[in-house]
Parts: sequence; structure tokens; C-alpha cells
Amino acid sequence: MIKITFPDNSVREYESGVTGFQIAESISPRLAQEVLAVSVNGQVTEINRPIITDAAIKLFKWDDPEGKHSFWHTSAHLMAEALQELYPGIQFGIGPAIESGFYYDVDPGETVIKETDFPAIEAKVMEIVARKENVVREEISKADALKLFTDKKETYKVELISDLEDGTITLYRQGNFVDLCKGPHLISVGEIKAFKITAVAGAYWRGDIKRKQLTRLYAISFPKKKMLDEYVELMEEAKKRDHRKIGKELELFTFSDTVGKGLPLWLPNGTALRLRLEDFLKQIQKRFGYLQVMTPHIGQKQLYVTSGHYAKYGQDSFQPIHTPEEGEEYLLKPMNCPHHCEIYKFKPRSYKDLPLRFAEFGTVYRYEQSGELHGLTRVRSFTQDDAHIFCRPDQIQEEFLKVMDIISIIFNALDFKNFEAQISLRDPNNKEKYIGSDEVWEKAESAIIDACKSKGLKAHVELGEAAFYGPKLDFMVKDAIGRKWQLGTIQVDYNLPERFQLEYVGEDNQKHRPVMIHRAPFGSMERFVAVLIEHTGGKFPLWLTPNQVSILPISERYNDYAKKVAADLEAQDLRVTIDDRNEKIGRKIRDNELKRIPYMIIVGEKEESNGEVSVRKQGEGDKGSMTADAFAKMINDEVRQMTISFIK
Ligand SMILES: [Zn+2]
Ligand SMILES: [Zn+2]
Repeated sequence: MIKITFPDNSVREYESGVTGFQIAESISPRLAQEVLAVSVNGQVTEINRPIITDAAIKLFKWDDPEGKHSFWHTSAHLMAEALQELYPGIQFGIGPAIESGFYYDVDPGETVIKETDFPAIEAKVMEIVARKENVVREEISKADALKLFTDKKETYKVELISDLEDGTITLYRQGNFVDLCKGPHLISVGEIKAFKITAVAGAYWRGDIKRKQLTRLYAISFPKKKMLDEYVELMEEAKKRDHRKIGKELELFTFSDTVGKGLPLWLPNGTALRLRLEDFLKQIQKRFGYLQVMTPHIGQKQLYVTSGHYAKYGQDSFQPIHTPEEGEEYLLKPMNCPHHCEIYKFKPRSYKDLPLRFAEFGTVYRYEQSGELHGLTRVRSFTQDDAHIFCRPDQIQEEFLKVMDIISIIFNALDFKNFEAQISLRDPNNKEKYIGSDEVWEKAESAIIDACKSKGLKAHVELGEAAFYGPKLDFMVKDAIGRKWQLGTIQVDYNLPERFQLEYVGEDNQKHRPVMIHRAPFGSMERFVAVLIEHTGGKFPLWLTPNQVSILPISERYNDYAKKVAADLEAQDLRVTIDDRNEKIGRKIRDNELKRIPYMIIVGEKEESNGEVSVRKQGEGDKGSMTADAFAKMINDEVRQMTISFIK
């Protein structure tokens, strides 16, 4: 008999050789039906693997990331099996599960796989599902694995095997398909009840632009047909909210190939929105004792050699700019921190000066492969709402709590009601990957954990997700249609103060090293605006929206009255636009609704002679007539109500 310990620490005895499935069955038949994977002493594996020693186990269902991972990874093999039947001779690269579904990189030789081929592949997948093939794990020696895939002329797999250590190699077979794979997998492809290919793209083998470009097929699968229907509906909603589409419709931003890929151009409406967001954060920061600073867009290469960024990212980034005469080398700044360290060093600092909080909306430049660029969420130039807090070690926790307060004010103001936090710590088994001693890491890690506890913030801990220079806390928001986005970050850093030899004179008259906290509640202005667009569908809150009111004269005859009303409203701080095109009023209303402007004012003969305006509210329709002054007061009251909690 062996002892099995469950996550709640209860212990049950089973016969040696019991499987995860049998354990689930012993608990409830329903659980046995739903269990997809099991972890045995922390290692996730198949539910039909015999457990032969005492073990701590955890059973995973669809709702667990581990369950989905196993399901989607098996679906990747299933898709590969279908492709192998449809495209004989096709070669396979890698096929991992991802955040939402999975992909497989394939080399179909001369054939091109297009969107029009998806239905045939999907039909073949469902045909294989009906065969209910079992997925079987096999351990294999390196020599045998190399022979097997060489015989199959699978050159990509052969390359992957060459990099593996003998004794660690496993295969997974189902039907006539065999794949090199670590697992874990479902035990039968019959569990996959719904399957859809979502996109096709190009992807360089091993992410190397010098190697062959393979075909990447993205897909998703579900244990119930209904779940796929819901997913498709969500994707349609997401398409309507795509920030690239709305960005164009509302004239917020654009890109120009002439200027360069991944370099956003902010149009007047988008700039107005962004500046308002920046002002909003500046006001909060002022209240929290931040000092604004400004730094240039470039820095000497040596600055980034000192900071360590050059060694880490230099080769994969924009290359140095050379001066014509002196042979100096400058880098486009990938981060603001080194500049801020030099500001700290401007004069001697005492313990009484700390904390010092330097804030800058700092534009940084990072090279991304052109294929990776995506709207405002993946760009080559972006502006961080950056700040660096230099503090004493005993102030870390308090500073951390204050940053958390700022983030919560922002999320409230912008109606991100659903958010969660992730604490990223070191991988305890791979400590040499990180800069800094054990002691400083442990201090920083516990400061973050304790800060979350004292705020009652539910945060999950991820080992091995920390940056190389320190642990961090990330905030993930859920948008209006349930998608998760990573936004703000707070990061403790003991490393840069060391590298830049930052000092302060303590109460003991001795020199000490300050601690640095990097933080960016929005993340970057580009990414945040993208998320905000997709969250709101372009219907920004009244206090933030570029235009609050659109004035629609019924005909050209009332254009002068419209201008007079506009001037009245602007004098009372409203943001106004006039639609004086020679169009029918119905058309103007429809067009302005698409512009998502919160209020429309209609002016015609009746309004002009009464000295009034007719008001329509986005989504609510007719609000009756009133004077321009009464309207301005109504809007200003509404804005005041919204902003009272965070502006004062
Ligand atoms: Zn696999
Ligand atoms: Zn920084």
C-alpha cells in the first residue's frame, strides 16, 4: 500500500500502482470523468501512469491551467496527425499549448496551407477524434529516437533530439502518428469534442530569422461543443473591439511605413486622450510626493554597459549610433533607469532625503522583429509612465504599499473592476540566472509578499518568472469581455544601485546603498491606451474622452448658431466638435454615434429661436432641450462626480 496526500493535506491509502484516474474514481465518478491530468510530487503527468510510491498529488480539470495545457497539447498532436494524413511528407517543428489554445509549426514543403484549407483540416481532426485513439507514452534512447525520425525524414525533430540528453527522451503515439514530446497528455484523443483553427502565420524555425520560415497554425479545442460556440462569439466581440480598428475609426493613432514599422504616430484625438491620462497620473503622483524629471532619448553605450542592459540585450537591440567625429557610441534608450540613477548622483544624498521618487513619461526604443509587431501593444517605440523610487531598505515595504494605492486609484478611475496580481520570484533551482546575492533576493521577495498580504490583495506566486535583476509584482486586469491583460508592474532592484555605486549618508554618518523600485502603473501609454480601447470598445469615460460633445446643425442655416453654442461650451471647459457637413441629420447622428462621442447636441430653428439645445446621450437617446449653460453645468457635474475620488 502507498500513502497519497491530497492538496488539503488529507491522506488516503491505495495499492501501489494506482493511477490518477483510479484515485479520481475513488473520490467520485464525476471527477473521474472530468480529470485531465495529475501532478505527482509536483510533476504533471498522464492520469494512467501508475503511482508506485507515497506521493502528494493534485488532480487537474479543465478549469485548471494544467488541465487545459494537457488538453491543448494533445490537441496539437491531434492536429499534426490530421495534417500528416492530408499532406503526406509534411514535416513538424514544435507544437506547444499557449495561453489560449495551441499552435504547431509545420513545413508543408511546396504546398501552401491557406485559410480556405481550414475546414478540410478541421473535418479530418474530427474524423480522427471519432476513432478514439489512445495516446501512449514511450521512453526511448537517443540513438533510437534519432534513427526513428531520420527514417521518417523529419529533419526538425532530428535537430531537436540532437540537443536532448540521452535517458530523458519520450515519445507519444496515437494511431499512426508519433511525436517527440515530454508530455503530459490526455490518454485519448476522444476527449476532444470541438476543434477550430484560428489563424495561420509564418514563424522562423527556432525564432531565428536566418532559418527557414515555417507555417504556424494556431488552433483551439474544447471538451464541449458549447464552449467552442461561446469562444467564437467572444472572438467576434473581440474583433469589434480591436484597438487597431477603433484607433482608425476614432482617429486616435496611425502607423506609416515611411516613418518606420512599429513607430506609432499619435493623431490629435489620441494625443488629447493620452495627455489627459498623463495629467491624471501626474496629479496623483504629485499627491504621493513624486518629482518630475526629463531625460534625453539616447545615452552613451557605456551607460548601458554599466547598467548591465548592454550585456543582456545589446546584441538583440537597436545598434549604436556613431558620432561622425569623436567616434562616440550612443544607444537609443531601452530603459529610463540608468538616466535616473545619474540624476540621483547629481549631489550627495542623506537618509533624510529619502525616499526620492523621480517620475518621467520616458520614451524608450526596443527592437522587435517586424513579424511580432501588433498595433499599439507590440511596438518599437513606446512611452513608459516610469518612475524610480530610491529609498532606504527599511522604506521598501511602505513605498510598495503606496505604489499599490496609486495602481488601485487608476484601476478604479478607469473601471477595471477585475484584476489580479502575480508575484514573480526567482527559480530556486536556477539561481545563477539572476544578479544579486541570496540575501538581497530574499529580502526583496518577502517585502512584496508582505505588502500584498497587508493590502489583502490576492496574488499568485510564480517561481522563475522574476526579471534577472529582481522580483516583481505585476497586475493583470480582466477587460469587459473577460480577456486578461498584463498592465502595471512594480519591481524591487538591488542591482542598479550597486552598479551605479549609489549612496546616501545614514544617521550613523556612514555611507549606505539605497534600494531602487521601478514602477509603471500603466505599463506604457501605448499598451494602456490599446487595452483601454478594447475594454471600453472606444466609449471612453466622459472625463477622459477626446471629445465630450458633438454639435449637429440640422442644416447649414444653423451653422452659425452651432458655432456660438460651441464657443459657449468651450468657455466652460467642455471639449466640443461641430459636424457641419452638408448631410441629412439622420446620417449625422449615425456617423457621430460611431465616433462614440458621449453627447450629441442638435440645433435647428426651434433651438435657435428658444436659445436652447436638444441633447442626446450615447446609448440612452433623447434627453430633451435645455440652455447651453444648463447643458455645460450638467456635463461638468457629471465629470466632477466621476473624478471627485481621484483628482482631489
Ligand atoms: Zn507533445
Ligand atoms: Zn526602471
